[in-house]
Amino acid sequence: MNNSPTSNNIIDVKNVSRRFGGLVAVDEASLHVSRGSITGLIGPNGAGKSTMFSLIAGSLSPTSGEVWIDGMPGHHKLAHRRIGMGLGRTFQIPRPFPEMTVLENVMVAFPKQAGEALLPNWLQWRRVAREERENLDKARDLLDFVALLKLADQPARVLSGGQRKLLELARALAADPKVILLDEPAAGVNPSLLETIIARIRELNEQGMSFLLIEHNMDMVTRLCDRVFAMSRGQMLCSGTPGEVTSDPRLLEAYLGGASC
Ligand code: ADP
Ligand code: MG
Repeated sequence: MNNSPTSNNIIDVKNVSRRFGGLVAVDEASLHVSRGSITGLIGPNGAGKSTMFSLIAGSLSPTSGEVWIDGMPGHHKLAHRRIGMGLGRTFQIPRPFPEMTVLENVMVAFPKQAGEALLPNWLQWRRVAREERENLDKARDLLDFVALLKLADQPARVLSGGQRKLLELARALAADPKVILLDEPAAGVNPSLLETIIARIRELNEQGMSFLLIEHNMDMVTRLCDRVFAMSRGQMLCSGTPGEVTSDPRLLEAYLGGASC
């Protein structure tokens, strides 16, 4: 159907820029995520990586440039429409609803539910009840998958940093995405939980899900990623295999050039 040369890519970012006042946070940067790949995005703090995620996910609009999702233009679409195009996202700083239970946090992440509209509640109560039961089962399955089922009825505020990252993953999975953007999933996570996160990403990838992963943990990037893009000061510096990129002198220079990581 789609003969565009970009359709092998689940995400195609073409020359996007984003300014914040006088600061160019992302500067004419391009990247792509091949279908079925785990693609990395690395670079020193302040390089523009999280801004790039927001531009892909639609929580920020680009000053210029294009974002294609699953072979379709996404840059004019609102964030919730991009979820409908198959895009999932986790945040660098997880934002669960702290007083809701872990299970409820997953339940509210399902796409629009029939029970949310007043009229169907009265007219189609059987359908609403069935959908709620199905979502409940699915939410429990997702919590089981991320090893949080035993905490399902606890308020989300009791979760550790690593458990919050896993909850974010379960919430992103609730919308059945084709590709997930993961923003620093290893940050602040203890080694055993980190292995759980890596195993779950691998398992999902084997089932066909693609990933774009921002990560400072180079061991994780090297173990997981097929291809890596490196940013510095808003610009795309280089891309290649993890080995090629991490030994690129331009990247070393970017890390030494004042930006901390
Ligand atoms: P990274 O994720 O690579 O550490 P960010 O994308 O968070 O980098 O930030 C890139 C640059 O844009 C930084 O200089 C940051 O201070 C700036 N920035 C990010 N978000 C905003 C914002 N909402 N308003 C103003 N400046 C921002
Ligand atoms: Mg960031």
